[in-house]
Amino acid sequence: MIIKQLTIIGVGLIGGSLARGLRAAGAVQRVVGASRDEQHLQRAQTLGVIDDYETDLGRAVEGADVVFIAVPVGAMEDVLRRIAPHLAADTVVTDAGSTKASVIAAARAAFGDLPANFVPGHPIAGTENSGVEAAIPDLYRGRRVILTPTEASSPAAVSRVRALWQAVGAEVVETSAEHHDHVLAATSHLPHLLAFALVDTLARLDEKQEIFDYAAGGFRDFTRIASSDPRMWHDICLHNETALLDMLDRFTDDLSRLRQAIAEDDGDYLLEVFSRAKAARDEFCG
Ligand code: NAP
Repeated sequence: MIIKQLTIIGVGLIGGSLARGLRAAGAVQRVVGASRDEQHLQRAQTLGVIDDYETDLGRAVEGADVVFIAVPVGAMEDVLRRIAPHLAADTVVTDAGSTKASVIAAARAAFGDLPANFVPGHPIAGTENSGVEAAIPDLYRGRRVILTPTEASSPAAVSRVRALWQAVGAEVVETSAEHHDHVLAATSHLPHLLAFALVDTLARLDEKQEIFDYAAGGFRDFTRIASSDPRMWHDICLHNETALLDMLDRFTDDLSRLRQAIAEDDGDYLLEVFSRAKAARDEFCG
């Protein structure tokens, strides 16, 4: 698959890594970057991630055969509104947003009817680092990318987006936006919320310096993702409200039950929960 012009809106970790990966695979001829801050785009150009840039999103998508949107999910509707009047009929548009029903709602609001060339997606890959400096060509190798085509997405556009991700070594799966949001609330959004909440609780204790001085590997493992970008996670939590609240309510109930077991010296319950959790993690995470 050769893309003549790929326009990436949001040249950060996710957008920059796709550009680097496609270049390394020889799958793209020209990459145009676009975002709000010209200094960020100049940096991306200096690093060789993009060939050219535009701060005007409409101009940036002109001539593109594929447009990849990798901005925070709260910015999707604004971006889609800006590019909508400038897209050629055969330009394929896809995105990397971590919530999918909200991105589809944003597209509906921006375009009116959902376009046949719009294929929502989400790479299940990333790090706690942000910005183009963090972008690496192998980010997607061996990782899953979930596509959530809409009822309007054409098979040809879906194939094109599938081929784009396969070119950087990803495994592509398809599901509905609702199912995606439900599963990701459990596996990604709730864990990030818990990591941020735990570190914040500890950081507000009087003896926080001592607590962090004594923090060992377990604390680092559990809280690594609390170093993720706060604005990005603010957007994700607010744009997957129903599924995240459902998971949070379940978890709050289970946590209360654990609290009760400790207060009542119910060691059997603790052992039962910890053993079940260890077996599940050993099985699913190797
Ligand atoms: P990032 O490194 O912070 O990059 C975001 C980019 O978006 C920046 O280049 C920023 O550039 C640009 N941007 C922000 N608001 C914008 C706006 N209103 N208009 C135009 N450009 C804008 O973030 P990321 O980690 O790549 O995440 C990008 C998307 O991928 C998000 O939707 C996120 O949910 C999703 N995602 C992230 C991960 C992860 O682990 N990080 C994994 C999968 C999916 P300027 O400041 O120059 O505008």
